Amino acid sequence: MYNVLVTEHVHESGMELLTQAKDISTTIRTGMNRSELLDAVAEADAMLTRSGTPLDREIFDHAARLRVVARAGVGVDNIDISEASRRGVVIINAPTGNTLAATEHTMAMMLASVRSLPHAHASVHSGEWRRKDFMGNQLHGKKLLIIGLGRIGSQIALRARAFGMDVFGYDPYVASSHIGNLGVTLLDDLDGALAIADVVTLHVPLTSETRGMLGAREVKSMKQGAYLVNCARGNLADERAVADALREGRIRGAAFDVFGEEPIRPDHPLLADDIRNQVVMTPHIGANTHEAQSAVARIAVSNMLAALRGESYEHAVNQPFMASLLPEHRRQYLSIARRMGIIAARLLSGAPKDIRIVLRGPLFSSETENIHFELPYRYTPYTVSLLKGFLEVHLGPEVNYMSAALLAQDRSLSVEESRGDARTYNNILEVTVRSEKDSVSLSGTVTEENKLRIVSVNGYWIDFVPEGTLLLFSNHDRPGVIGRIGTLLGDSGVNIANFALGRRNGSGLALGVLQLDSAVPAELIECLERDRDFIWASAVTLPENM
Ligand code: NAD
Repeated sequence: MYNVLVTEHVHESGMELLTQAKDISTTIRTGMNRSELLDAVAEADAMLTRSGTPLDREIFDHAARLRVVARAGVGVDNIDISEASRRGVVIINAPTGNTLAATEHTMAMMLASVRSLPHAHASVHSGEWRRKDFMGNQLHGKKLLIIGLGRIGSQIALRARAFGMDVFGYDPYVASSHIGNLGVTLLDDLDGALAIADVVTLHVPLTSETRGMLGAREVKSMKQGAYLVNCARGNLADERAVADALREGRIRGAAFDVFGEEPIRPDHPLLADDIRNQVVMTPHIGANTHEAQSAVARIAVSNMLAALRGESYEHAVNQPFMASLLPEHRRQYLSIARRMGIIAARLLSGAPKDIRIVLRGPLFSSETENIHFELPYRYTPYTVSLLKGFLEVHLGPEVNYMSAALLAQDRSLSVEESRGDARTYNNILEVTVRSEKDSVSLSGTVTEENKLRIVSVNGYWIDFVPEGTLLLFSNHDRPGVIGRIGTLLGDSGVNIANFALGRRNGSGLALGVLQLDSAVPAELIECLERDRDFIWASAVTLPENM
């Protein structure tokens, strides 16, 4: 049985999925204070929350069993994602359930703003009939700039086109082929785009790059008399600068559903009396439709259940990639990378200082460059997998794809990923790990038949399958040395399954890898290290089912 702790009100369609699940024991505790929450999380395998449950380091400290947090909604600002990732807790949200609700609310806000609907309504309500005070603008024929052409931005584009708007988009991360039939003209200069748009609407996530993207300077670049709509996230636009622009008559209207601080304070700049007739505000209700809440709850709960049960799931916020969704050949590269990480960690002496990974070949050139992304999304899956292998040797098997890059950073291990052209092998991964006193390098590949191979160690070309128990050693290249190691292993009752040898011309040294049927006794390694014919020896056992 899995214990699921529900800390906030979640739509009944999601709760039904929980109560119907035979392997789930559900505890509903809404409205807990902090100390109650700290106690309650101790027994939880999973939590179902919304935006009102703060999940910080102290909470994670008390949640030893916690594996999954599902957020019935989109924003995860209330969750310390890095802390969750370090502990291997998967954070799942439901970003697709409320797309249409947010889209329709944005359209409503746009129309409300250009026609002053709330103000006209309030006026009629107060007994007035002031028709000429409510002279608006029509959307037809106007230029709309959509900043962020993801799920919601694309849906806005379709609806705005139906209104006869001329639709422009700014989204440096979307390919023009992707927006092919939306009828949107993509612009790559935000300032230029702001200068031509009659209506600007924001649909980007809040990231370090988008925070404050419409600051005082950008608001000044907006076309005279334009309208601004923000139904995405607070802190994307500088609310004070928007209020100033309204006051100075540079922009005509602003419609906001989201704010930098929610709930807003009575002295919020957009509540000022002199601009109130130009502002439409709603209390972050973009996703508040019955349909959206029902869809969001079902998406969050079903993915949470799948994650708990080890089945494949969607919308993990802190999972840098889903291994199960990669094609088999790429999954094999994940596997070789992790094995290379384990072997490198076993061979390196001293505290690791830096890891350099080079991805060579066409397979890797199609990987997106993520270097500007935050951890754990900065590296390709292969580097993440290599880091996982490398770190799990000393930190234990709980190091996972979410935590690997963060743990490397915590340990001041510098990680550098680069790409290069392939040489002897079609696609090859190369890694060099350095400590103060040592350096280890390995290359690994996957054959056409999807078989894993390590093809070089410390500059020696060699070919072995990284599986089971391996004994790696470097020796003086003299007659009888290899025979002796065979005798020593035989005397210890260890059978050799395979043997690979690499030599470097003129060095007088060789490197050997033995694949063994059983573990290597520690005394044997000590014996080899004392032997003048051997420079070093190291045993590595690779976990099964990797
Ligand atoms: P999405 O992930 O599908 O799309 C976001 C788009 O923004 C992507 O295409 C991305 O490439 C683009 N983007 C990222 N950085 C950018 C940048 N610097 N400049 C321009 N474009 C950039 O997200 P979505 O589901 O469409 O949601 C959009 C926003 O709406 C999010 O902030 C979401 O939190 C918010 N939202 C609000 C409500 C509400 O209640 N008001 C409801 C749902 C969603």
